[in-house]
Amino acid sequence: MDRETTYNFAAGPSTLPTAVLKTAAAEMLNYNGSGMSVMEMSHRSKAYKAIFDETKERFKRLMNVPDTHEVLFLQGGGSTQFSMIPLNLMGEGGCADYAVTGNFAKIAANEAKKYGKVNIAADTSDCSHTRIPAQSELALDSGARYFYYCANNTIYGTEWKYTPDTGSVPLCCDMSSDICTRPVDFSKYAVVFAGAQKNIGPAGVTVAVVKKSLAGSELPCTPLMLSYKTMIDKDSMYNTPPCYSIYILGLVLKWIEQSGGIEAMERAKEKKSSLLYEAIDSSKLFYCPAERESRSWMNVVFRTESAELDEEFHKAAASSGFVNIKGHRLVGGMRASCYNAMPLEGVERLADFIAKFDKEH
Ligand SMILES: *Cc1c(COP(=O)(O)O)cnc(C)c1O
Repeated sequence: MDRETTYNFAAGPSTLPTAVLKTAAAEMLNYNGSGMSVMEMSHRSKAYKAIFDETKERFKRLMNVPDTHEVLFLQGGGSTQFSMIPLNLMGEGGCADYAVTGNFAKIAANEAKKYGKVNIAADTSDCSHTRIPAQSELALDSGARYFYYCANNTIYGTEWKYTPDTGSVPLCCDMSSDICTRPVDFSKYAVVFAGAQKNIGPAGVTVAVVKKSLAGSELPCTPLMLSYKTMIDKDSMYNTPPCYSIYILGLVLKWIEQSGGIEAMERAKEKKSSLLYEAIDSSKLFYCPAERESRSWMNVVFRTESAELDEEFHKAAASSGFVNIKGHRLVGGMRASCYNAMPLEGVERLADFIAKFDKEH
């Protein structure tokens, strides 16, 4: 297999822009005349500090992050934020609202229960998480310290198409699989976080945008490394940050900027996912379990009525260069992830492949 004829539809870690990987390869042994690889640099060195600062500035610029919020580069994946959020924001005897619209939100809610009272504001498990609740369905607790939701449900292929209105209660959002695909009004958010490995970089770094005024009242048991205050005060460098992952993240953000920024990513995701949904909807064989209004722009989840036929599709797709198209083990079927770095051409070819497979079966 070669790169030119392979389209990697993996849900994460996922495809990265070829241009970014080429730059990284060219700079691998000698970064910018330093005589060393970024991997070998001290995180306190001038050369590395420049990479770090530029990456942070670029994220702030691209996403319009206001000065009320700090951009952090953390470790432990998106999953560590499931603990960090309640530890830092719940407060002693506090309570928080959670919308359970998928597996990751459920894990987050269960984690939060260890630290305070959790009000399940919505739960779509009765319909196997095939839809996003409407605003009117959210059972909000006015005393909640925050409202938590997962913007895009990577496994089930559903996505919030609106920002929940929670009055004065700030939002916390897992944007691991749809960060940098649309503008975000950070003034409504206490925390937005995303593991980089879906849409903006490699595994190893998690971007967290934290409202500074809400940091500093963590529970006394909060580990030093899980305190937003620690990381804000030390500019994500209390300890050694994931240096190389941050460098690649920086290259991806530069690529996004050069490709037209967030607006261009937004247009591209709508175009790519609608091509696939059209191919699925106009087929006899395939269908989407997710409700139409809740369909994800990022992870197109679909299937046939038969597990054997799904298996046949995976194999045929892979031998035509469309790899990692298997659905998550919790749901089976197929999943084509159309993140920022997936070229339109890959999606067009997959849509044709779906139509061809449908005709032949
Ligand atoms: C992948 C994913 C996670 C888990 O991320 P890790 O970095 O593996 O901990 C959490 N939330 C969402 C929405 C995801 O897609």
